[in-house]
Amino acid sequence: MARHGRPPALAVVLAGQNPASEVYVRNKLKTVAASGCRAELFRLDASAALTEALALVRRLNDDDSIDGILVQSPLPEGMGADAEQQVFDAVDPLKDVDGFHPINVGLLVQKRPSLVACTPLGCIELIEREGIALRGKHAVVIGRSDIVGKPMALLLLHRDATVTVCHSRTAGLPAVARSADVLVAAIGRPAFVTRDYVKPGATVIDVGINTLTDRAEVERIFAEGSRKRALFAEKGSVLVGDVHPDVEEVAGALTPVPGGVGPLTIAMVLRNTVTAAELRKDRGRAV
Ligand code: NAP
Repeated sequence: MARHGRPPALAVVLAGQNPASEVYVRNKLKTVAASGCRAELFRLDASAALTEALALVRRLNDDDSIDGILVQSPLPEGMGADAEQQVFDAVDPLKDVDGFHPINVGLLVQKRPSLVACTPLGCIELIEREGIALRGKHAVVIGRSDIVGKPMALLLLHRDATVTVCHSRTAGLPAVARSADVLVAAIGRPAFVTRDYVKPGATVIDVGINTLTDRAEVERIFAEGSRKRALFAEKGSVLVGDVHPDVEEVAGALTPVPGGVGPLTIAMVLRNTVTAAELRKDRGRAV
């Protein structure tokens, strides 16, 4: 912190009142602030135009007291179909705490990453801290999104795993998944990965966060007398990952939902805020 003369500062842009986004943003701001960094929220109305979001991002780019910018996804539908792409592209790559800017994605592809997407970065942190080997292992990633699946595959590849990326058109998905030593599920479908997708002893990283509100679905996934059923009875909703709870019986290691990849993602927001502050400091020195 002394290196910068002030704490690193993160600006979070939140447009609209999506309830899940409100929770994510609150947790990100809380974690960053608790570390001694500055975290500031910038709100836009749900009815805000894309031009307003772009203008705010440009203002934050030019603000020397801000080191990192994070625009919470999703943006309101009214901003248009390619709004997220336009807004993410507008963020200064050196302040791009989400790692979504094409320059940062390109640097990751070339194995010279600077700011990397927080969720895959958190997954890698989790795997490495658990001492789980990746070199020469077969890693299967289910999901090919720009924010999780693709950067996840690159991070695994750069750690010498042999990587297979699967998606909705993959033929024979259970058999492909079953060949994985490390299986990453980033699909967005509740309890999709069942035990027949998992090789005994494999490491399974569950990125999915799905909210269940349908009793029949809860009863299909969670056993009678389970804690999740009790939670559903109490709250009327319950979180489940992309991995079925039965996988616990075959996997060598399995990340919980909630409490697994989610908190690590938030920790990586903090790490990237500090990295962004350092990158800008270095650029200042170079100029
Ligand atoms: P996304 O953009 O919707 O991508 C989902 C991917 O899953 C796509 O590549 C899709 O394939 C694939 N897929 C869908 N149905 C499939 C099927 N039946 N078989 C095989 N592949 C299938 O989602 P995302 O943004 O990557 O997020 C994935 C999940 O992670 C969501 O539950 C999200 O909430 C969660 N998430 C969690 C965190 C966290 O902090 N823990 C952060 C981000 C996201 P196609 O490309 O062929 O359509």
